[in-house]
Amino acid sequence: MSEVTRVPRPTGADRGPGPLVVAIDGPSGSGKSSTARGVAARLGLSYLDTGAMYRAATWLAVHEGVDLADVDAVARLVSGADFDLSLDPEVPTVSIEGHDVTDAIRLPEVSAAVSAVATNLGVRANLVARQQQVIADATGGVVAEGRDITTVVAPDADVRVLLVADPAARIARRHAELGEEVDQADVHDQVIRRDRDDSNVAEFHSAAPGVVVVDSTHLDLEQVIDAICDLVPVTATSALRPGTTAP
Ligand code: C5P
Repeated sequence: MSEVTRVPRPTGADRGPGPLVVAIDGPSGSGKSSTARGVAARLGLSYLDTGAMYRAATWLAVHEGVDLADVDAVARLVSGADFDLSLDPEVPTVSIEGHDVTDAIRLPEVSAAVSAVATNLGVRANLVARQQQVIADATGGVVAEGRDITTVVAPDADVRVLLVADPAARIARRHAELGEEVDQADVHDQVIRRDRDDSNVAEFHSAAPGVVVVDSTHLDLEQVIDAICDLVPVTATSALRPGTTAP
């Protein structure tokens, strides 16, 4: 049985004007980030990692010593903060309030705390609005990935994908990313517990109508990138940057 839910490649006949938008959601360890970066690099599009924004917001709240349970204080802090993102899929970076936190946001302390900030509805409203602005301003097109891109941030995206994988595969991938010496309990926390908490505010375990499910459990990265590029409307590829390989 094929691991990929294939639908015919759309013709794009009903595609409106404007840049190509590819929306990818999925749980932790599904391979979202590597896949989204790979699709963006292949198609010559910008790359928006919305998880990095929630992580940067979390880093700032911890850095400023704000109690994460104080939802109003956290929402105020995040709403007033300057975010600077590099949308280059080869070198995605994130700074908040002038601090380059590209590496710091991957630390276990941030991963452990991020759901508390991401379930803050004031924070979500602010970050969703910013993400929608980034997508609107990305004149060359964008691949955006997260938990609510296909449903809330960009429900009208040209391509909407839910990337899934078996829990065992997701845990194994996270383990490989974090290194051999990492504690099993930490990996479990970063995958299973975080997904459970995140599911309270975003539905990313089942596909909304029109969203294509791609199961990466038995696929390598290139196969997943191929499967998503195959979904890009034919007419959209003619507008891609010169030198870009059309799928
Ligand atoms: O994708 P990543 O694991 O970096 O996301 C970090 C966290 O950001 C998630 O665990 C989730 O709490 C939050 N997030 C979210 N909505 C998004 C992207 C990420 O709530 N669109």
